[in-house]
Amino acid sequence: MEGKMNNLQCLVLNRSFLPFDIINWQKAITLEFLGRCLTLEYHPFKKIKSAKKEWNLPIVVKVNSIKSTLVTGSPTRMMIYYRDDFRCAYCGKILRDSELTIDHVIPKSKGGKWKWDNLVTCCRECNAKKKEEIWVPKFVTPAKPKFLFPKYIKAKRSVEPEVLNIWNKYIPPSTTKLIVIK
Ligand SMILES: [Zn+2]
Repeated sequence: MEGKMNNLQCLVLNRSFLPFDIINWQKAITLEFLGRCLTLEYHPFKKIKSAKKEWNLPIVVKVNSIKSTLVTGSPTRMMIYYRDDFRCAYCGKILRDSELTIDHVIPKSKGGKWKWDNLVTCCRECNAKKKEEIWVPKFVTPAKPKFLFPKYIKAKRSVEPEVLNIWNKYIPPSTTKLIVIK
């Protein structure tokens, strides 16, 4: 098999058809071989070949799990970064988590709380300028997402566009864009 096999990944749905995990192709083929999943989609053009046989590559499977990526409760710092795609709310720069901070849109000193709709990702530069002011976030939507799926957010950067198109049929819109429900 030629090409970049490392990028071949498989989206895993739970028993309610909601995505909750991404696994490598070896694990996906094993699940299928053991009859532990229902394969919903195969790779549109790649197959695994040996001397005598070829296998289709599962790219979306459903398993009998109740795990989910539904968001409940109060956010952590990393959940805010993932919701905002590691982008500063005020200047739009995308940075690593070590270069980012969490900003209270309404500052703590003015009664702003640690809540989904009052927290945004912010670079150190903007945070230092903003101080105790109230700025309107331009690049992110400070609201509670219905779903948060960090593995998908990472994987969609490396997966082939044809595969991403198929995956996106199974991804709730609030995970791909920030159409969010409070
Ligand atoms: Zn900034």
